Amino acid sequence: MVSPLLRMLPRRRGRIPILMYHSVANENEAALQPYYWVATTPALFLQQMTWLHEHAYRTTSLASAVGLLQAGGDATEKTVVITFDDGYRNFCQHGWPALERFGFTATIFLPTASIGDQPRVFNRRECMTWDEIRVLKQRGISFGSHTVTHPQLHRLEPDRIREELVRSRQMIEDKTSSEVDSFAYPYAFPQTDGPFKTMLRSILEESGYRFGVCTQIGRAGRASDPLFLERLPVNSADDVALLKAKMAGAYDWIGGLQSLTKRIRERGPNA
Ligand SMILES: [Zn+2]
Repeated sequence: MVSPLLRMLPRRRGRIPILMYHSVANENEAALQPYYWVATTPALFLQQMTWLHEHAYRTTSLASAVGLLQAGGDATEKTVVITFDDGYRNFCQHGWPALERFGFTATIFLPTASIGDQPRVFNRRECMTWDEIRVLKQRGISFGSHTVTHPQLHRLEPDRIREELVRSRQMIEDKTSSEVDSFAYPYAFPQTDGPFKTMLRSILEESGYRFGVCTQIGRAGRASDPLFLERLPVNSADDVALLKAKMAGAYDWIGGLQSLTKRIRERGPNA
């Protein structure tokens, strides 16, 4: 049955949901607002993947998603991109088995200073090792850069930003012997700062990136910037019904609202 909310949504074709996951584990984040949760329980992750499979979704890379969006038409229907930020090691135990079961693929964004030959810790969680990354790569998982040190890029000088982008890409290419063309912006994306976006876009291009994702909420569309594609955050608060609503476009308007509230805050209440 289609919920009344979904029936009221304008039908917007030609959009591809890019799901943003972080940790797949039984973590208690009850002290935080669900908006800030970064963990999805293994049981729920399996339910979400099962739902995608049962509804005939196929997973693809960012490169092919952008190609489909730019080509237009119905080829975008039933296409989804699955991404994971931060390279947490629990992906190996809980994420990969669920994806493999349905022949799904995903892109994982690595903060390279937290990746080693032995597990290193980022945000109180173990990250995957280079050996684990090479095995996943052979099984069809893609890897992109999430900078070296996971800084607030918005606060850095252009030279430091360039260093974060160039060094992380080089490291992943060296360790996996394959080309890296994608990037995920760490922390909240300053989407209303036009000059910063222009500067970052040119550094990304000069550093060899062709595709990128950020925390701006929504589904990617034909007009999206391929270096700053919108995503849909997913966590333990997303039962299958909520995931379905997000995939259908229930959150597409939030991206615009994010920009608006940021502008209002930046201008102050009297502006
Ligand atoms: Zn991150």
